Amino acid sequence: MFRNFKMVSRVVFGRGCFHQLRDILAEKRKNAASFMVFLVDDVFRNSKLEDGIPLGRDDLLIWVNVDDEPSTAHVDRLTDQIRSFSAVLPRGLVGIGGGSVMDMAKAVSLMLTHPGSASDYQGWDLIRQPGVWHVGIPTLSGTGTEVSRTTVLIGPEKKLGINSDHTVFDQILLDPELIADAPRDQWFHTGMDCYIHCVESLNGTFLNAFSRAYGEKSLDLCREVFLKDDPEKDDKLMMASCMGGMSIAYSQVGVCHALSYGLSFVLGIHHGVGNCIVFDHLEEFYPHGVQEFRKMMEKHDIRLPQPLNVNDAKMQKMIDVALVLEPLWENALGRDWKRMMTRERIEGLYGQILGNS
Ligand code: NAD
Ligand code: ZN
Repeated sequence: MFRNFKMVSRVVFGRGCFHQLRDILAEKRKNAASFMVFLVDDVFRNSKLEDGIPLGRDDLLIWVNVDDEPSTAHVDRLTDQIRSFSAVLPRGLVGIGGGSVMDMAKAVSLMLTHPGSASDYQGWDLIRQPGVWHVGIPTLSGTGTEVSRTTVLIGPEKKLGINSDHTVFDQILLDPELIADAPRDQWFHTGMDCYIHCVESLNGTFLNAFSRAYGEKSLDLCREVFLKDDPEKDDKLMMASCMGGMSIAYSQVGVCHALSYGLSFVLGIHHGVGNCIVFDHLEEFYPHGVQEFRKMMEKHDIRLPQPLNVNDAKMQKMIDVALVLEPLWENALGRDWKRMMTRERIEGLYGQILGNS
């Protein structure tokens, strides 16, 4: 069966387009006696961006802290907060921030129309009905969550997405000015998420002309952004992120993401930097990609943190988390991956990554 996948319905792109949000919401507010919810990364408190949020009198603005990556528990708390604010559903929900806040917005939109906890829906196509109309506005580029059909959450047992057609944003606004002032290390780590999406997609067994077209273009843009001094780097990274996301939508990520999920679940290491830490050790799987990645690190003088040593119980849990991600391994290594990627081999890879072998 071929994937019949859902794309974002509406896209605005351009410098300063954030100001168009007011008009877009005004259209939705017409004939609707309801309110909007804004989930905004708390890094923007008292910023110029805050002044530009078109907050209506009855709207709810929630500042979201993402020092920890999004969890099902955090999504449940936000959903409860909105339910206790009003007995009616909001007319729309707008997420403004990096991948974490955008994922939170997607998940809360779904949970407002579904019973139970977000952890009940981690998996594939467990969500059967639309969420609240939801808008994504990235302030970092690289994750591709602005176009993806998943929201990645840390649950009680696993780090896994809520993957469904209804997860996809109804509207996105891509304003390159919003990513211009991100701290350099964060800009790099999140940007490398995109670069790694492309390398894993283009080197995977699931590759096809659709994924290749988006992946190759995205990779070219990443090279212009990270290996040259391009005056349009913010515009280009924003497009690279979307295209990288589109590439993996019709293929899959690979070894780096599978191992990085384990680091993130057990050690709380964020996705972008976790991917960089892992990717630097994956020359045997992605020789050219890793070499180019090191050139990019050198150009931007990026030093990766060395993660901590872990005890055996944590190591076993990291291996468990990595092994749940079967499609990623199959994409990277083929149908026979279970024979090639044993627990012992994964332990060896984690040993290298953590510097204890
Ligand atoms: P992030 O959203 O976790 O943010 C990282 C840090 O940067 C935070 O401290 C945040 O407050 C800050 N920040 C955000 N924008 C800023 C700006 N413009 N200026 C200054 N600081 C800013 O980072 P991310 O790398 O964009 O997102 C990572 C998350 O995305 C992870 O939770 C990961 O699981 C998820 N992800 C989701 C998908 C998907 O398809 N759903 C794909 C890849 C990653
Ligand atoms: Zn990623």
